[in-house]
Amino acid sequence: MLGFLFFLLGASIGSFLNVVIYRLPEGISLIKPPSHCPVCGEKIRWFDNIPIFSYIRLRGKCRDCGSEISIRYLIVESITAFFYLYAYLHFGLSLELLTFLVFVTLLLPISFIDYRKMLIPDSLSLSGIVLGLLLSIFRGKVIISLIGAAIGALYILIVILVGKAVYKREVMGFGDLKLASLIGAFVGWASFLLTILISALIGSIYGLVEIKRGKSSMKSLIPYGPFLGIGGIITFLYGKWIIVRFFLV
Ligand SMILES: [Zn+2]
Repeated sequence: MLGFLFFLLGASIGSFLNVVIYRLPEGISLIKPPSHCPVCGEKIRWFDNIPIFSYIRLRGKCRDCGSEISIRYLIVESITAFFYLYAYLHFGLSLELLTFLVFVTLLLPISFIDYRKMLIPDSLSLSGIVLGLLLSIFRGKVIISLIGAAIGALYILIVILVGKAVYKREVMGFGDLKLASLIGAFVGWASFLLTILISALIGSIYGLVEIKRGKSSMKSLIPYGPFLGIGGIITFLYGKWIIVRFFLV
């Protein structure tokens, strides 16, 4: 029953995250004007704005002009709802649950915005670092989080400098640096090292698949944010288990 409530909460938050993903990079206010169809400009009625459900009932088309609504809306709402439900089942009602929900609610819009626009808004990453450090006080993990935030930033800084020296180009940006710092603040320094491993692994697989499909070459830039985000989430959920299972004898 409570799990279902977390699912609904996640779906509604996901609905708001869609607004963030679409409006934040464009510099449009998150509150005004109310949701409308970008093609015909008609306001979305409340009963057409129910997360997940409305998209399916309208079959992904605007009620007024019939133009297609991006599948991204359904994907973001479903993923958020799933994570909220899964986190509740995984952590139970606890401070870790709250921390994880804040973490995911920041990582989702960051990953989608980075994927679409190749940028990571400071408003999300910087407030995320502050929130991660604040929560660490209550979780009794201040030092681990502080070092995590510092190592996250330092790691990307080294990657940026090496990229400039060896490849003579920007392989990563300062948006990635702040995101890595955010993740370090939430998962702590030891787990952050695991995050690097996981995200590099997933990123390389993605890169190879894209090259195979002829969509990109070794030289093309892929947004690293989503991979860091996925690595961070896996680490937060299963970091301890992975470290004990695979890295300790
Ligand atoms: Zn329309």
